[in-house]
Amino acid sequence: MIVHWHRRDLRTTDNRGLARAASTGEPVVPLFVLDPTVLEHASPVRVACLLESLADLRSWYRDRGGDLLVARGEASGVVPQVAAARDATRVVWNEDYSGLARERDRAVRAALEEAGIATESVHDAIHHEPGSITPNQGDHYSVFSYFWKKWRDRDKRVAVDEPAAADLADVSGEPIPSLAELGFDEPEATPPTVTMAAARERVADFCSGPIYDYADRRDYPAASGTSRLSPHLKWGTIGPRELYAATERAAEGASTDDDRESVREFQRQLAWREFYAHVLAFNPETVTENFSGYEHEIEWRDDPDGLEAWQAGKTGYPIVDAGMRQLRTEGWMHNRVRMLVASFLTKDLMIDWRRGYDWFRRRLADHDTANDVGGWQWAGSTGTDAQPYFRVFNPMKQGREYDPDAEYIRDHVPELADATADEIHGWHELEPAQRERLAPGYPAPIVDHAERREQAIELFEQARGES
Ligand code: FAD
Repeated sequence: MIVHWHRRDLRTTDNRGLARAASTGEPVVPLFVLDPTVLEHASPVRVACLLESLADLRSWYRDRGGDLLVARGEASGVVPQVAAARDATRVVWNEDYSGLARERDRAVRAALEEAGIATESVHDAIHHEPGSITPNQGDHYSVFSYFWKKWRDRDKRVAVDEPAAADLADVSGEPIPSLAELGFDEPEATPPTVTMAAARERVADFCSGPIYDYADRRDYPAASGTSRLSPHLKWGTIGPRELYAATERAAEGASTDDDRESVREFQRQLAWREFYAHVLAFNPETVTENFSGYEHEIEWRDDPDGLEAWQAGKTGYPIVDAGMRQLRTEGWMHNRVRMLVASFLTKDLMIDWRRGYDWFRRRLADHDTANDVGGWQWAGSTGTDAQPYFRVFNPMKQGREYDPDAEYIRDHVPELADATADEIHGWHELEPAQRERLAPGYPAPIVDHAERREQAIELFEQARGES
């Protein structure tokens, strides 16, 4: 017997570790471990997605005469236990690149080896493994555009087939625990459906049309022009090779150069995911530490009221509040708005990016350590290829540009349902009495953007030792 330990690869097709296990010719025992150390960092919405995804994976195996074993406990204890109980000779898994995951994997590997069970880990989650796309000096790029040029021109592997029914061991697992049994309350957000079929359907839908408008629409939150594949990529219900192949077919089927360019633009976003995976793999400490050092500590403000208003979507900056409320209700936020709310927290409120990261980690269905840290450090001007500290997003201008009719804002901030787009985008300029008349329950801006912009620049200049 051979164990395939599923982690963030909750799929059977385009799964290199699983294919490797099946290729040995021994019966495969698929395993997932609900590890308390990992669950401690999870949010109800993400765990709800996980449980649905596990049930889906289990039914795939059951339909073919196998089963997915779902065990609870520290992975370094449980994996060797399950493997030994099944007389497994080997445990195979796909690599994960975060520091926490790699620490866990080292402990599991050591425990298995001590028990005389072989281990094998395979690169699967991204096309090109960390360390394989490098500048002349150093082990990873810090500037995305250079990374992208190499990434784009590299040969991509093809998707791998799913194992045959004959490859599966005849095992049967315990019931999958419920959210409550794992100690979580029902999530506030409605979890997206994260199953293999839902992922494929989304890829097929997106690549059959919307991908050609992606470049034009991706920045407009009301347009729903992005793929919304992030929860699937997070849990691995779709593999990177299968997804990329679908985008290449879309490129082949494109009827204009613009359409082809739009597919390229989408592929460029997929490369951001791999860029950040490489950065994190070589800099695991950046989950808590700034990637780019400043001469002095950045003197972030301690502002619990500001933080609370930001979390609640009550800053009086409509586009920021719309984003924060979308996060609450959907467990997802549009990328342009993620950049805006992160900029607002770190520049207008001058609150440490780690407070924002922490909130996102507890709310996002698609939380991915590498992308989340990457996004936050970018916005906080502490990251790789980050937004320069002196370029501070103006939330009003951004709202006007990317949500001109205030459609997205009205969708998420019902208090503003009767205000015109001009009133919404000019909220900061209205008289208090006008604001009160238009939307009595909606706050005035909690800070003055122009003032805060100056102060934020000063904060960073002090950290640079310039003032
Ligand atoms: P699409 O535009 O359809 O893109 C397709 C895929 O490309 C995404 O699913 C994602 O895997 C990848 N991608 C797109 N943009 C980026 C990017 N800027 N960085 C890295 N990968 C990208 N993304 C996450 O997957 N998880 C996170 O926890 C996360 N946190 C973020 C935090 C902040 C502060 C910021 C600014 C961005 C964050 N992102 C994160 C990146 C991005 O916002 C999301 O990937 C995107 O909004 C997901 O929606 P989509 O699948 O419709 O994206």
